[in-house]
Amino acid sequence: MSKRLVVALSGGIGGAKLALGLSRVLPADELLVVANTGDDFEHLGLSISPDIDTLIYTLAGINNPVTGWGRRDETWSFMESIGALGGEDWFRLGDRDLALHVERTRRLRLGQTLSEVTSDICRRLGIAARVVPMSDDRVRTRVRSEEGWIDFQDYFVRQQCRPVVHELAFEGVTLARPHADIMAALRSGDVRAVVLCPSNPFISVEPILAIPGMREAIKSSGAPVVAVSPIIGGQAVKGPTAKMMRELGLEASAAGVAARYSDLLDGYIVDHADADGIGNISARVTITKTLMTSLQDRETLARVTLDAADALASPR
Ligand code: GDP
Repeated sequence: MSKRLVVALSGGIGGAKLALGLSRVLPADELLVVANTGDDFEHLGLSISPDIDTLIYTLAGINNPVTGWGRRDETWSFMESIGALGGEDWFRLGDRDLALHVERTRRLRLGQTLSEVTSDICRRLGIAARVVPMSDDRVRTRVRSEEGWIDFQDYFVRQQCRPVVHELAFEGVTLARPHADIMAALRSGDVRAVVLCPSNPFISVEPILAIPGMREAIKSSGAPVVAVSPIIGGQAVKGPTAKMMRELGLEASAAGVAARYSDLLDGYIVDHADADGIGNISARVTITKTLMTSLQDRETLARVTLDAADALASPR
């Protein structure tokens, strides 16, 4: 019988778009989305998990299509009020969004794990696919710039990615345990594909891959590993991926991302716009439209990605 499980590694905005596509073309019990938690932080006394939140809102169909993060139909009374009081308003938390952080924080304080909270909130919002944090243990991405080491959200949101990035670190990662459901899936012998979503490699996918045991489990799952390039026409659709690549001395291109994943990659999905620059990629390349504007784009790219994986799995 053919293998069924698709394990998708995802950050926030780009990853969630493909995760939504996958969730619409696969039965719910065939998709496991592994969420990056390196972006998580504590702010205003709240536990915030930006990538999990973007995945939840996107998969539930309540994401804000304009910002890419947060909820649609949002109001901002809390932000306006806290700003007027001289409070911290650099990290934008809408009123509806705030409810999720307050509730997550309450449950974590009662001793629930991040994965328990995530799965219950998914269920309540009608999300059928499984979304699992890479680990229930604390991992925090840190950025080294000219100012020295700073917290990820300080770099990403407060300073809007302006500092030049010299180095990244995932604090706590050596002690973090991969979530048991991810390991069980990867060891099940039933994995059809491991998909590296079109997320920022450095701050969304690599924290997941840095969890001890994760890379090895992916490799020994026996499943084809297929990545979708987050770079289109040599540029990021959104966010600092290309800027970061240049600052880290890498080629800001689809090929540069593939080189970063090279030891893992069996298949690579790139956009028509990058077709000329992929000569040296050792993975099997599929050229297609990778910009996901409509819901149909998300579904089509999900199907193309799964087809590429299936072609790699079948005897050549
Ligand atoms: P973050 O955690 O919110 O920063 O989000 P991700 O890391 O998941 O996604 C950021 C990446 O998604 C950027 O490198 C974008 O270029 C990429 N991205 C966003 N939209 C698209 C799209 O429609 N297609 C592709 N191929 N990449 C996209």
